[in-house]
Amino acid sequence: MTDTVIEIHGKKVLLLEHAVEHDVLPDPCNCDIWVINHSDEWLVRRFLRRIVRSKNIKMYLKPVFLQKEFKKFYATKDYHLKYLSDGYIKGLDIIEKIPLIEQVSSFIEKYADKRNHENFTENDFFIQKTFDYYYTRKKRITPVLKHKSLTGYSYPRIETYFYNNREAFINSRMLLQEAFTNNWLSRHYVDTSHLCHNCSSGFLNYREICPKCSHHNLKASNLIHHFRCAYVGVEKDFIFKDKMVCPKCSSELRNVGVDYDRPGKIFNCKNKKCQHEFQDAPVGVHCVDCETEQAPHELVVRKIYEYEITAQGMQIGLHL
Ligand SMILES: [Zn+2]
Ligand SMILES: [Zn+2]
Ligand SMILES: [Zn+2]
Repeated sequence: MTDTVIEIHGKKVLLLEHAVEHDVLPDPCNCDIWVINHSDEWLVRRFLRRIVRSKNIKMYLKPVFLQKEFKKFYATKDYHLKYLSDGYIKGLDIIEKIPLIEQVSSFIEKYADKRNHENFTENDFFIQKTFDYYYTRKKRITPVLKHKSLTGYSYPRIETYFYNNREAFINSRMLLQEAFTNNWLSRHYVDTSHLCHNCSSGFLNYREICPKCSHHNLKASNLIHHFRCAYVGVEKDFIFKDKMVCPKCSSELRNVGVDYDRPGKIFNCKNKKCQHEFQDAPVGVHCVDCETEQAPHELVVRKIYEYEITAQGMQIGLHL
């Protein structure tokens, strides 16, 4: 079975269904634009990843769109298919895509022969194809929130070059940092993230811990300070039927700020061997991925940036 080719506005459109189903990359020379015509998001992702990982400039620069009618099927998982493609297309309305198609094809004509990958290190090649792609798309390299990524933020296209989450995180950040340091990319601040100092995960659980034994099963009680007699005690000792009564002087407490205030909390450690009572509970951070326990000041602080190709990047990164 072969996929359907339709000619619209003088451009050949390949409707990809069987190729997606069977994970076969078609010859990129045969059609000008590819439209993904398959509803299974996992299969579509597998197919798009093969395109992004390809070493052939005609393949990784191929204008590939997702059929908008299938958008509802792609929304259930965290795959970010639109970032691995050129986005959605409604029906076969390709007229607005013609400038992109022509720009990509003249770029390929000009540079395909100069992409001598034999002399390239793998890293040079990743930089090269990243620049080829973002230059022809006139797009910035934008981080997106992604639950399944290691840190919570992802550069989906660049991370696809690599085969596991940790490798994707480390290598994509190194690639971007190197290009920024060389002044091939400029950057704009987006966010700050705190990561596990052991494994760089952003999936962290913060909770108060006992300062003596680091146990995190604590009982927290509100403190009440009765102004008139200066007694300070835990809230439950002031509860008498449906009223609040001071356990020391037996007068009723009516108005917060007038009769009493809440100066804070008191914690009791529920570790039987410890049972420490304290007022200021430090926060402990537990990494969900590698289970390392750490203090907030030990977390790695990383800024998240959006990147843009500079004039120097266009000259060197693209080997213009
Ligand atoms: Zn304790
Ligand atoms: Zn009192
Ligand atoms: Zn960790």
